[in-house]
Amino acid sequence: MSHKNVPMVPRVIFGRGCFNQLSEILSPKRLNIKAPFIFIVDDVFKGKSWLASRIPLSYDDEIIYVSVNEEPKTEQVDELVEHIILTTNERPSGIIGIGGGTILDLAKAVSIMLTNKGDTSDYQGWDLVINSAIYHVGIPTISGTGAEVSRTTVLTGPKLKLGINSDFTPFDQVVLDPELTKNVPKTQWFYTGMDCYIHCIESLNSTYLNTFSQSYGEKAFDLCKEIFVDNKLSIKDAQDKLMMASWHGGMSIAYSQVGVAHAMSYGLSFLLGTKHGIGNCIVFNQLKAFYPEGVKLFKEMLDIHNIELPKGICADLSDDQFDIMITVALSMEPLWENAIGKDWRKSITKQKLKDLYKKM
Ligand code: NAD
Ligand code: ZN
Repeated sequence: MSHKNVPMVPRVIFGRGCFNQLSEILSPKRLNIKAPFIFIVDDVFKGKSWLASRIPLSYDDEIIYVSVNEEPKTEQVDELVEHIILTTNERPSGIIGIGGGTILDLAKAVSIMLTNKGDTSDYQGWDLVINSAIYHVGIPTISGTGAEVSRTTVLTGPKLKLGINSDFTPFDQVVLDPELTKNVPKTQWFYTGMDCYIHCIESLNSTYLNTFSQSYGEKAFDLCKEIFVDNKLSIKDAQDKLMMASWHGGMSIAYSQVGVAHAMSYGLSFLLGTKHGIGNCIVFNQLKAFYPEGVKLFKEMLDIHNIELPKGICADLSDDQFDIMITVALSMEPLWENAIGKDWRKSITKQKLKDLYKKM
């Protein structure tokens, strides 16, 4: 058996206020004064001086504000790359993503596409990237996805929703400042936080489970319970702990894989544009047969935090539309193999998935 040799983020800084050290972190990485740093920032921060005014700009550095109403697309990456090439004198010194999973994924993808030819969609898959990316930094402002540690960047392309999975994808530097998450709206906090919880459940109840994944997954699971079930932490402690839960959850999947909720949520997202966090919650809520304990606790958390999940999102779909979702979900073969085992095809039928989607 050959073992995976996974890349990790080589540098990480953690702590409230550590965002203020960004300038000293970036300065040594500036190639020359004509090679700018490009900051890709969630446009929710536009005009929010508590954050925007602390982004250290010098020389030709630029902030590009990006709306995250939709999940990142390969075309959007192509456009950003073209913009950067057209507006800079030299290849940038680095790309810095400041935002949630959407922005972090865009920043990773742009840093790869600045050194690799062709279209972004050419690289969706596993280990297709040829040249190393330019220096890239991830600064999460909401916790849960684990995108800050992962070796993938999930993108919707013309044909597929699939990540650029490569050893060049992980950030060179991550800045974990829990204070940046202070204004996350409550429902979004819950949905993105549950992405982390679901990562733990899928990783800990999987056939790929091993001690590496388990040790990170159990820690992340315990942190999630403290935050979302015990619900007694101060706001600051809860922010600190969720940021670390996200990190550990991401590390756990790095050495295993996600499972049924993610496979089916990809289907929803591809057809209906349902966003990752909420989509995972809508699917996971129906997965009692696969993850009985995890779903039970999830329903308790919904109650504790008064979260009402949308209902009937598949109510008016045609058979063709169900087929599209089912095809996308079933194409995530490693996820099913991880969740069910090598002979997953025997028990996971199209009809079974259709019955589940109909409940959502
Ligand atoms: P997001 O980036 O889509 O943001 C969700 C919402 O929260 C947005 O409206 C955003 O503006 C807002 N927001 C973020 N930070 C805020 C703050 N500090 N204050 C106020 N509002 C804030 O959410 P997400 O759940 O972090 O990311 C989802 C994306 O992550 C999906 O595209 C998914 O595919 C991707 N993802 C990637 C990986 C990976 O390993 N690469 C893993 C899981 C998910
Ligand atoms: Zn996820």
